[in-house]
Amino acid sequence: MPSRILIIEDEEKIARFLELELTHEGYEVTKSADGREGLDLALEGGFAIILLDIMLPGLNGLEVIRRLRKSSDVPVIMLTARDAVMDKVSGLDMGADDYVTKPFAIEELLARIRVTLRKKESSESSDNHKTLSWEKLTLDSLSHTVNYDGKPIDLTKREFMMLELMLLNKNIVLSRETFIERVWGYDYMGETNVVDVYVRYIRGKIDDVYGINMIRTVRGIGYVIKDEKA
Ligand code: CA
Repeated sequence: MPSRILIIEDEEKIARFLELELTHEGYEVTKSADGREGLDLALEGGFAIILLDIMLPGLNGLEVIRRLRKSSDVPVIMLTARDAVMDKVSGLDMGADDYVTKPFAIEELLARIRVTLRKKESSESSDNHKTLSWEKLTLDSLSHTVNYDGKPIDLTKREFMMLELMLLNKNIVLSRETFIERVWGYDYMGETNVVDVYVRYIRGKIDDVYGINMIRTVRGIGYVIKDEKA
């Protein structure tokens, strides 16, 4: 089965050129010239990669990726204008995987597509695709989504990593030092009470909202999520 690529680009000349080249390379191409329609297509899924222009009618590219990332981790390469540094930075911040600057050489884009697809494959084949759960909470390590009773919970990267660590080590009390090592990294030089601050953030988004006691404090040691039965 050929990999499917979605091109969201309103400049007809560029879109047609890309379609021609990518089809020639053996990809199956779908085009959209409108941000809103492109987002809907992307959300339907089934694409190996999305090429996304920034200046688009309907919904701009940055907004498209922001909304897309709430439920999808499909690789996205942005097509940005020369000198639009802010667009690149914002796009990568919002979860784009890479970008090319217009006008681009097709060889460069093809190379970036191959690299992005390879990265995606290796992350899928490794063992980090796990759905972890606790009572009505589920955490998907691959799509980086957390739901409680089917409702999405918006966590920052660090909050997500902390929750993931606790769910992977259910019933084991994790020390502040462990959180620091695993979430902030060995070279973190700040205070370990940042862990308490982040636990408070997570509780504020989950425990407090749903009236549950998921993250338990173990005084003098750290934190733990206990299995329902334990
Ligand atoms: Ca455009």
